[in-house]
Amino acid sequence: MSSLAVLNASQVITLAGPKRPRIGAELSELEIIRDGGMLVRDGKIERVGPSDEIEKDLGDAEVLDARGRVVMPGFVDAHTHLVFAGNRLEDFERRSRGETYEQIAKAGGGIWSTVEKTRAASEPDLLAQAKKHANWFLRCGTTTVEAKSGYGLTVEDELKILRVMRQLNASCRASDAIRESRIASTAPVRVDAAETEAGPEIVPTFLGAHAVSRGMSPDKYVELVITEMLPRVSAEKLAEFCDVFCERGYFDVDQSRKILSAAKKVGLSVRGHVDQLTNSGGAKLMAEMGATTADHLEQTDEQGIAALKKANVQPVLLPASVYALGLSRYPRAREMIEAGLGVVLATDFNPGSSPTPSMPMVLSLACTQMKMSPAEAVTASTVNAAYSLHRGDKIGSLEPGKLANFVIFDCEDYRELAYWFGMPHTHAVYIRGDRVLDSRER
Ligand SMILES: [Zn+2]
Repeated sequence: MSSLAVLNASQVITLAGPKRPRIGAELSELEIIRDGGMLVRDGKIERVGPSDEIEKDLGDAEVLDARGRVVMPGFVDAHTHLVFAGNRLEDFERRSRGETYEQIAKAGGGIWSTVEKTRAASEPDLLAQAKKHANWFLRCGTTTVEAKSGYGLTVEDELKILRVMRQLNASCRASDAIRESRIASTAPVRVDAAETEAGPEIVPTFLGAHAVSRGMSPDKYVELVITEMLPRVSAEKLAEFCDVFCERGYFDVDQSRKILSAAKKVGLSVRGHVDQLTNSGGAKLMAEMGATTADHLEQTDEQGIAALKKANVQPVLLPASVYALGLSRYPRAREMIEAGLGVVLATDFNPGSSPTPSMPMVLSLACTQMKMSPAEAVTASTVNAAYSLHRGDKIGSLEPGKLANFVIFDCEDYRELAYWFGMPHTHAVYIRGDRVLDSRER
């Protein structure tokens, strides 16, 4: 048995509460324990409470002193594009000079430059870069990352990206095998050093419909996604969700409906990039499809919000992409909270429109630009995000029985995460009770 006791934390942010996404005033209820402690056994949380009570029953637990620090569930990032090759530095510089999207695309930039680099990259090279990105998430305190394909746009290249995600997760499973062997006191399982590199858990989403592949008509490409990509993704169990970029110039409402219907038929749950640049009825489509989430929603109006509420769809808001594109129209978070939606915050990490893995940065934007409170932002990026990935029963809060995925931050009050923006607060990160990042090792 391996056990760990965290003691003396200035605040343990438990987020204990109902077993569903938090809505309305519930988003402000963090269930904070001051001078708190937590007992972890075999990768799971056994007890959470006042430090002096936890201390009474330590047994052989390794003790971790969190004096002067905040202990929180690891962030759950429910919308990222983790796997791609290269970067978009040239686009970034052009945009900073005031060039338009069209000018940048003409100069060879935009999504196509990333698609070309990702197609050209070998699977090991893509995996190496994805590991680097995954480590950035850990350093920001994120322990679970949803990741979308979508920079391949051919059958083989989309599958290659999803296989990279599977390999990223295999390293987590390798450390699980080690733990199992420890518990069973059998000989340790041998794994290569490279396989034991710890990283966040990856939740794979198939986004073949990210853009229409060059040289194909939109309808032909939709056909390819439905008849060739989706069956392979499903047969090889490479994704849990299917996503689509529903926007003028990409996939319209009818094409998006076709793709998501086909995805549901092969057993995938669905999410969607909707109403980002124009209000094209994307939120309503997500409601009609019974989607798990509707993401972006910068242009969604009150009718869209009402449709999401009626169908119980969780909105995933991505303020970092609004910020990084230099735009000013953020989604209507306050109206969504008041309407009773289980709001989620995520980074939208990608090389073009949101090059940040930092959830603390997203918390800052949520508070300053969308007028969410620091507590609402924390709920939206932990427990609500966990439910939006069908993992609310396992992660997202510090409650007995859940996985011991938690972060120790170098601040005494959780509100400091959003307040002191642009600086690292992470002290240590734990996944399933194992320390996977320590600020002294950085
Ligand atoms: Zn996105």
